[in-house]
Amino acid sequence: MKKYALVLLGLFALFLGACGQKAEQKNEPSAAVSSNQKKTVNKSNNHSTETQQSSVSRSSTSSTEEGEVTHNGTYFSVKNKYGDEIIIVNKKHPLSADYAPGENPSAVAAFHQLKADMQALGYPISDNYSGFRSYAYQATLYQSYVDRDGQAAADRYSARPGYSEHQSGLGFDLIDTSGNLLEDSASVDWLKAHSHEYGFVMRYLPGKEAITGYMPETWHIRYIGQEATDIYESGLTLEEYYGVEGGDYAD
Ligand SMILES: [Zn+2]
Repeated sequence: MKKYALVLLGLFALFLGACGQKAEQKNEPSAAVSSNQKKTVNKSNNHSTETQQSSVSRSSTSSTEEGEVTHNGTYFSVKNKYGDEIIIVNKKHPLSADYAPGENPSAVAAFHQLKADMQALGYPISDNYSGFRSYAYQATLYQSYVDRDGQAAADRYSARPGYSEHQSGLGFDLIDTSGNLLEDSASVDWLKAHSHEYGFVMRYLPGKEAITGYMPETWHIRYIGQEATDIYESGLTLEEYYGVEGGDYAD
């Protein structure tokens, strides 16, 4: 399974080289988008996003309360207690297919610092990693898992296109020096204790599959920014902390 994923990582790198750069220039992703930007609604809404919008209360003012999920036509988000917009991506909260922000600049800078610090401490962390994935790439990746393991099994560990946190540019997978997704316990223990200091949370925690929608992943971290430490100290998943719906797909 992992070897297969890494073969696809190579494919992913090629894809990024071809298409990722262009997408990055067109968008200005940020983990902390100001509240007035939130009101910008994508004019090219299609049927499916309109359907999603009708199921949530949309905020048109700056009075959004903590925990209230809003949708801007492209993604769902909550406003946190520091006034930052936190993008929510899970099996109940997809991204639009054309959302291709590339790697979030704050997130990738923090990720490189974390990676370098782990390497300096002697943990077996590769320079290779998996960050931003386009909708099209996720579609290819997910389909390859469905073809191999069947849809029910694939849904437990791989997101359908539009539902991957990697498409937000805020999710990162750490790879070890053998080329596998990071699982060794010393590294993972360090990551659990310190990733919040870099603004990251461990996204898919053990025992929380019914809430996050995924099997535990020791290698996947999600950039939050300042509030990562609050979330870490709470011991909660992102869904629990912000009071947003998670779990399985609606259909
Ligand atoms: Zn991941």
